[in-house]
Amino acid sequence: MTKDETAHKIDELVELLNRYAEEYYVYDNPSVPDAEYDRLYRQLVELERNNPELINPSSPTRRVGGEVLSGFEKVRLEVPMLSLDDIFSDGELAQFVSRVAADENASDLDFSCEVKLDGLACSILYENGVLARASTRGDGQVGENITQNVKTIKNVPLKLKTDNPPARLEVRGEVVMPRSGFDRMNEEARTAGKKTFANPRNAAAGSLRQLDPAVTAKRPLMFNCYALGVAEGADLPDTHTERLKYVKSLGIPVNSETRAGRGISFCRDFYRSILEKRDDLPYEIDGVVIKVNSIELQENLGFITRSPRWAVAYKFPAREEMTVLEDVDFQVGRTGAVTPVARLKPVYVSGVTVSNATLHNENEIRRLGVRIGDTVIVRRAGDVIPQIVGVVEEKRAGADLREVKFPEVCPVCGSKIERVEGEAVARCSGGLYCGAQSKEALKHFVSRQAMNIDGLGDRIISELYDGNVISRLSDIYRLTPESLFEFYRSNDRLAKQESAEDSKMVKKLAASIQQSKKTTLPRFIYALGIREVGEATALALAKHFRNFDRLRQATFDELKQVDDVGDVVAKHITGFFAEERNIRVIDELLELGICWDELPDTKAGEQKFAGMTFVITGTLAAMKRDEAKSILQELGAKVSGSVSAKTSAVVFGSDPGSKYAKARELGVRLISEDEFLGMIGR
Ligand code: NAD
Repeated sequence: MTKDETAHKIDELVELLNRYAEEYYVYDNPSVPDAEYDRLYRQLVELERNNPELINPSSPTRRVGGEVLSGFEKVRLEVPMLSLDDIFSDGELAQFVSRVAADENASDLDFSCEVKLDGLACSILYENGVLARASTRGDGQVGENITQNVKTIKNVPLKLKTDNPPARLEVRGEVVMPRSGFDRMNEEARTAGKKTFANPRNAAAGSLRQLDPAVTAKRPLMFNCYALGVAEGADLPDTHTERLKYVKSLGIPVNSETRAGRGISFCRDFYRSILEKRDDLPYEIDGVVIKVNSIELQENLGFITRSPRWAVAYKFPAREEMTVLEDVDFQVGRTGAVTPVARLKPVYVSGVTVSNATLHNENEIRRLGVRIGDTVIVRRAGDVIPQIVGVVEEKRAGADLREVKFPEVCPVCGSKIERVEGEAVARCSGGLYCGAQSKEALKHFVSRQAMNIDGLGDRIISELYDGNVISRLSDIYRLTPESLFEFYRSNDRLAKQESAEDSKMVKKLAASIQQSKKTTLPRFIYALGIREVGEATALALAKHFRNFDRLRQATFDELKQVDDVGDVVAKHITGFFAEERNIRVIDELLELGICWDELPDTKAGEQKFAGMTFVITGTLAAMKRDEAKSILQELGAKVSGSVSAKTSAVVFGSDPGSKYAKARELGVRLISEDEFLGMIGR
């Protein structure tokens, strides 16, 4: 590069970095990931090092942070708040250690090693032990007065825990939003279709720098002290870590990962151990900070323009990177939720190559305004699936962009995709038919409260499904003892079992499949697994419509007449029966012999046991208790688990327990099984 070109490049970088810094520090709304800022910053540092005569006085390398936001009162910081120099490798760490050790033996030097919390720097001044003022770092000299906001942070004491407080003590630290609070806040915002925060740092900064402290008060923030500023009337120890211990004794929170140790190997080990722990920490960090521990040596080393010479930030691999969104696919989950998945140009993010990320839902796509071909910010933190958190709009120029189209039908089974107002998630309506949902639908279908098929647990269902023996509900009733034997023989796990036991098991299973064909209408409705139709709703639907065909053809308004059924459930039900493929599976089930006793065509008011409360106890010979319960409920009764003076009657089988005794004691009517069968017309 010629001198002119270099000068031009430097000016360009200064302008760009200053714009990014303003977005980041002043508006808490960065447009590029930190990794991009850091790359450009290092490029500038390099150019300035080789061409000191070209240094631009407004270069970000000469300054700390950004200007204060108008609206906040200004606070002049008596001791400037500085930034930190970054390093990215063990080689740079060695250079730092030998620089600070100078003539001394580097292996004898004491360091304080700390986590580098990724939040917002904050200064809190205590006067005579009482919180008097709090400020942001601002440009290092002048910060924003955020006293009222800081007072709402739960772990910041309003008074120091001492009877003999120093006249003035300024503690400095980082305000962060713990990851759990951040995830919760974003999840709530996403569900409500509101703006989410890209990362915990932005969330912390945006929450603390609020003109209305009531907003800050609602945000889950936390403060950790890492340094002192002004100190008057305090007899301070002469190492940094001892000073932190003193601060802690006053009730100020100090990060528990802080360690003192000797030499470069200690610093290196600390970096590695924290990097390993990074995902388990409840807050976000972007590296570790290594500080000379002796205050005397710190003072001797002093400062350069924007950072102390005695400390350095050893950064971790970035959590966020930029890459290109190449396409969007739609995945259907086990509950039918349709999730847009971003296909990315592979990019290295916090230690792994990422090529897929979630886009959550349709609202999120709209909110981000993302298009295929866009340069996007991808974030990967811990075990969480990588996410797209932003679009780098300035990279749009010249890009070939395409709208992201949300599909109208399920990409797996072709059924219609259903959207419920107020719910962010879109779902495939082909619950019974859709390959993506079948396994869960099968498990639900055979469960105890549904078709109640003994011996057909989750594991066997999984194996039958994975072995392509069953795929939809009706396939269960096509299983024969022969096909089950065949399956058992060919399955490695099951084949290991004794064959005599096998045959017993198979026979039992085949019998319980047969038995389950005779069921009740509420059970069958529940077994279909219509979204949000649980046992109680299934019963209410059965009681109301009394006949399956009537339910199947019910309109949205008719469904809403049913107790317990609101707009959302009615929409799920009509959506379910509108899907022809679901009807096909239901018809197959009925053809294969699923049946139930039709309920007599009575109105609710004419139900025999309306208004009565029954309790069932002991073992019934003719049916299981669940079945007796359904019959009683169909006839209008409530069935309770405990006896009280309000109980209308107790139905008892053999070996009744304490409920029987209690009923006798309270004089509640006792009904034997025979009498009960007579009452229900069996
Ligand atoms: P920094 O955040 O890299 O380091 C200094 C800060 O670290 C201190 O002010 C303090 O708040 C914090 N810190 C956390 N734990 C600490 C501890 N234990 N001891 C001491 N300090 C601790 O420096 P900075 O100047 O505030 O910000 C620079 C960084 O901000 C860049 O590296 C970049 O990643 C990011 N940035 C991003 C953009 C963007 O557009 N994305 C723009 C500007 C800056």
